Amino acid sequence: MEVGFGSAIFSFLGSCRYVNGLYLISIPNGATLLEIFQSLGRKCTAINSELTILQYMAPHEHIAVTLNEDDVRNMINLHSCLKLNIIKLIAVPKDDQSPVNINVARFDFGDEVCSDGVHDLDVGTLTNSIDAWIHCIRGVGQKFKDAAEFRICLKNYVVGSRRSFIYRRNESGNILVVCSKENCQWKIYASKHKADNSFGIRKCNLIHSCGDDNLRSRSHPKADSSWIANVVKEKLRREPSYRPCTMLKDIERDYGVELEYHKVWAGKEMAMHDIHGTDKGSYDKLRWYCHAVKETNSGSFVELVVGN
Ligand SMILES: [Zn+2]
Repeated sequence: MEVGFGSAIFSFLGSCRYVNGLYLISIPNGATLLEIFQSLGRKCTAINSELTILQYMAPHEHIAVTLNEDDVRNMINLHSCLKLNIIKLIAVPKDDQSPVNINVARFDFGDEVCSDGVHDLDVGTLTNSIDAWIHCIRGVGQKFKDAAEFRICLKNYVVGSRRSFIYRRNESGNILVVCSKENCQWKIYASKHKADNSFGIRKCNLIHSCGDDNLRSRSHPKADSSWIANVVKEKLRREPSYRPCTMLKDIERDYGVELEYHKVWAGKEMAMHDIHGTDKGSYDKLRWYCHAVKETNSGSFVELVVGN
């Protein structure tokens, strides 16, 4: 049950990394270590208190803390005070002697360092999950179909990682974005590649020097109508009766983002427009359909009646 920080009964989104997987669970206020293990165990049986230890990323210190019962209470209190929705966890096999398996270890969770490798986009715009979004911006060389696809990916990335950005330049040929927090070094410059017309990240610094000053509110400045349209489009295609009030609840449950009704309504309109095209385009499709029925089913009677 997620009813906001004002109530005693609210949940955090737990994002737990284990080996090469990432598992998302709900962590209610008051949860115990055993309950967290049980929730994770339902997602991945290898995560259990016999075989693994759980660490959490302390947001104010950027360090991983091994959890015991007391720490779970402190972790929830801390996230509640800071109004942070996402608790980042890491499950470490007990027999793993790697350097991360220590009581306090620094690790970057979601902030990825630039690389020189070339990556093609496969998540971020195609998969609607925080799991995919927090990894969808990877670094220098990552390619996108065009600037529009990069913008969608960028919005998903910041919604997933509870950050925000400002456009310093926003053109179809090149985009420069910086962190919304003043003096932070996080930035991405992406531009069009003349050779193959693709769009790619040319320079970036994906480390936030603003620290863990994540967004404190449950709304998000980049969760605008076009973002909502992209999130709901596939379900709306399958279920044309999908209503804005249900979308609003689904988005809050799945992504931890609170939205205003009018924004969701506008997002649905945009998605409908993308799915069905303009009124004129839909009308032309009807005429095409009538013609096709007559051509392929001889003897059929088809009449297109147009009202006001
Ligand atoms: Zn920053």
